[in-house]
Amino acid sequence: MIAKPPRKPASAAASSAPAPPAGADERPFWQRKTLSEMTDAEWESLCDGCGRCCLNKLEDEDTGRTFFTDVACRLLDWDTCRCKDYRNRQKKVPDCVRLTPRNVRRIVWLPPTCAYDLLAKGRDLYWWHPLVSGDPDTVHAAGISVRGRVRAGEETVPDEELENYIVSWPGQVPRSGSKAAAPGRKPAAAAPAKTPVRRS
Ligand code: SF4
Ligand code: SF4
Repeated sequence: MIAKPPRKPASAAASSAPAPPAGADERPFWQRKTLSEMTDAEWESLCDGCGRCCLNKLEDEDTGRTFFTDVACRLLDWDTCRCKDYRNRQKKVPDCVRLTPRNVRRIVWLPPTCAYDLLAKGRDLYWWHPLVSGDPDTVHAAGISVRGRVRAGEETVPDEELENYIVSWPGQVPRSGSKAAAPGRKPAAAAPAKTPVRRS
């Protein structure tokens, strides 16, 4: 699983930025910087707060294919879609993975809507990303987040029953959220996520 970094409203990063000098590149930071060039605050602001990476996943040992489930990590708040104990997450959930500019290129189980995955692949953010919309609720309004879609918490579902909870939507971009994310930015890249459980 991917552990999510502390999320900050888009306005926080934007408002603290000094006015660019005349002639400077005025594109937003995620379009003009690689992931590894970003400050910690910029990196963390990339997390849209969707919570998809905090769903349990299964990995087929033969094919390597990842399957999402709608079973949430025990620390995921189903309404806010944020971690309930971000500071201590890796002590409490050992398989919570901290995303970095280096590992985000190797991780194959991030959802296709994830800002880190999009930017690492040289794509842009979608319209509903809080950094683009300026509104942290658009990730929910566009049907991207897990709000209202979690069926169970992992503490109530034994590993051997996870297969019964496989769903496809976390691996898809809904039509309502699919505008933009065009290629054309400078390619990449600590956010957290949950690693898949391996199954043969
Ligand atoms: S511990 Fe990690 S995977 Fe679990 S909710 Fe928190 S950030 Fe997400
Ligand atoms: S999938 Fe990506 S953008 Fe969504 S919560 Fe996880 S790290 Fe953040």
